[in-house]
Amino acid sequence: MRTIQKRMIEHVLYPAMERFRGNRIRTKTMQLQASERLPAGQLARMQEQKLAALLEHCAKHVPAYRVLGWEIEEIHKAPLAFLAQVPVLPKAAFQSAPDRYLSDTAERSALIANRTGGSTGEPVHFYMTREQVEAYEAARWRGLSWYGITHGSRSVMIWGNPIELTQNAQRKYQLRERLLKNRIILSAYQLSSDTVREKAAAIEHYRPEYLYGYSSALTLFAEMMLKAGVSLKLQLKAVVSTAETLTAAQKQVLEKAFRCPVANEYGARDAGILAYSCPEGHLHLSAENALIEVLDPVTHAPLPDGCTGVLAVTDLNNFAQPRLRYLLGDVGSLAAARCKCGRTLPLLGALEGREDAMLVGAGGQLVHGNAIGQLIRRYDGVRQFRFIQHSPTSATLLLALMVPDDALPTQVTSEVQALFPDTAIRLEIVEHIPPAASGKMRYTIREFPLHDR
Ligand SMILES: [Zn+2]
Repeated sequence: MRTIQKRMIEHVLYPAMERFRGNRIRTKTMQLQASERLPAGQLARMQEQKLAALLEHCAKHVPAYRVLGWEIEEIHKAPLAFLAQVPVLPKAAFQSAPDRYLSDTAERSALIANRTGGSTGEPVHFYMTREQVEAYEAARWRGLSWYGITHGSRSVMIWGNPIELTQNAQRKYQLRERLLKNRIILSAYQLSSDTVREKAAAIEHYRPEYLYGYSSALTLFAEMMLKAGVSLKLQLKAVVSTAETLTAAQKQVLEKAFRCPVANEYGARDAGILAYSCPEGHLHLSAENALIEVLDPVTHAPLPDGCTGVLAVTDLNNFAQPRLRYLLGDVGSLAAARCKCGRTLPLLGALEGREDAMLVGAGGQLVHGNAIGQLIRRYDGVRQFRFIQHSPTSATLLLALMVPDDALPTQVTSEVQALFPDTAIRLEIVEHIPPAASGKMRYTIREFPLHDR
């Protein structure tokens, strides 16, 4: 049944969808696979040509950029240098005037309305085209192909939130997922050692080739498996983590529980699949689809390779509602190194989470939220935590403990306090820390802007 369905999807369903709906995901995946090992110079030239076309389009057809009165000739002389002069676009600025970014050539009836999950504030509403969606999907399939996963590969998605649908709607949703995407969805929400056994059995019964989900949900599931002494009697091609930063500690837990490679997908709903980790463990950028810059978090000046800053993305396929140098809110660095896997796609050196995970000491110094994470994760007695900074001088530390304990919270708080000597930290012990509405887990939150402080 399994191989028949895989063949059905690969050889009948997908080609049929391509013929009838003009869906070109497979073709685009193959194009990306063909360019991932091109000489670096050739890749860079390809990227630059696409960028020049996009900038020219913006100058002519996108109101927000047209008013800037760009010289087309200047764009083509040195597209990358030209881009570096374009103002960065924070999410809030885009959100306040989305129509000004809509191209006058965009065919309204062909636009697909979408929005971000809003895990960090207001959701952003935007439009995209099928071309873009296909480019994003192709980048995902290219990354998955590095693990031997193909369009028909069966998967199980591990979700962190209860799916908020009526039972009937849920059955329909599951059926659609199963037939069209060859995938079932399991929730890692409120797992116990009994339910983890049941869910592991359901996975074995379904026989997926890979698991897919938010890193926090996958890790929670893996931790419960290890705790209950459960292992899967099947060899997965990969466990694919998405939507949140995958920490080294989480990766280790996943490798231990599932005994297979762990892949890391980095993307954003409003920017596409931006990078995929290869089996060597390095994050390769989808350079054919997007251009990523690393900028100083306060001044927005470009930073050299190896330096950590905020990421600005220019989606090279977005001609409908272009956002140049769009600040995703993620923090990371670029690496100049070449990867042993032989792929020439540039590398993201490190991905360190969200820009709002950057915290500010009372003296104005920046402290990355990861520092708190690394510190607290050393304490096995802490089940969950969240550090919320209200202002440089005031913060709340939420802790959910494995078992009631008086000494532990005080000790953890004093260690966090050492990172923020002049900030008043209020400790709060809670039963459970829920993920954001989007299902993403946020470990640190800064409630005030970084720039106008
Ligand atoms: Zn690689």
